[in-house]
Amino acid sequence: QNMIDTASIDWQKQDGLIPAVVQNHLTGKVLMLGYMNQAALDKTLATKMVTFYSRSKQRLWTKGESSGNTLELIAIDKDCDNDSLLVQVIPNGPTCHTGTESCWPDGNAHSFIDNLTNVIISRKGQSADSSYTASLFERGTKRIAQKVGEEGLETALAAATNDKEELINEASDLMYHLIVLLEDQGLSMAEVNKNLLDRHSKAKK
Ligand code: AMP
Ligand code: ZN
Ligand code: ZN
Ligand code: ZN
Repeated sequence: QNMIDTASIDWQKQDGLIPAVVQNHLTGKVLMLGYMNQAALDKTLATKMVTFYSRSKQRLWTKGESSGNTLELIAIDKDCDNDSLLVQVIPNGPTCHTGTESCWPDGNAHSFIDNLTNVIISRKGQSADSSYTASLFERGTKRIAQKVGEEGLETALAAATNDKEELINEASDLMYHLIVLLEDQGLSMAEVNKNLLDRHSKAKK
């Protein structure tokens, strides 16, 4: 079945073209903006590879046709007044032709967790006296796991004593140490995020 009723789209409003915002369906990051006409949308739905109408090339353009950096279609929705699209994808490589993940700078990250994760990864293998994160990695799994346990308990206690400021602080400590633990184990919040999404889609069926 089609994920969108293409007949109800208001093609005439903008000369047969409507803007399509492309978003990473896992992270929520906005990747790029393109335009679709009816043929581009039909091709996108039929092939599950995002295809635009390129105003500069004046033809259908399947994103990644020369670079290989395709956008695999997950879902597509029209907006409240049927004149723009939100396209959820799994990007196959960087989406921008400049080689970056998104056509917009960092600012559109869904949450700070992605940025923090990158900082944490960058501390791996650095000397222990250079940062707290580096010293945690050096002390190893047991110590990091112990910190997650402690911070979990402190988070629970803050909630139990109804101390909201403390709860935010302890929850932050917990999240930070949890990311460090996952990275120490060669895992990441991305896997946790994916697992939560998988559970959610199973629950809906
Ligand atoms: P591609 O579709 O990735 O094979 O790239 C082919 C050409 O399309 C590039 O050389 C750019 O001119 C253009 N292009 C690719 N990605 C983008 C983008 N995200 N936004 C605008 N133009 C793009
Ligand atoms: Zn609209
Ligand atoms: Zn770009
Ligand atoms: Zn704490």
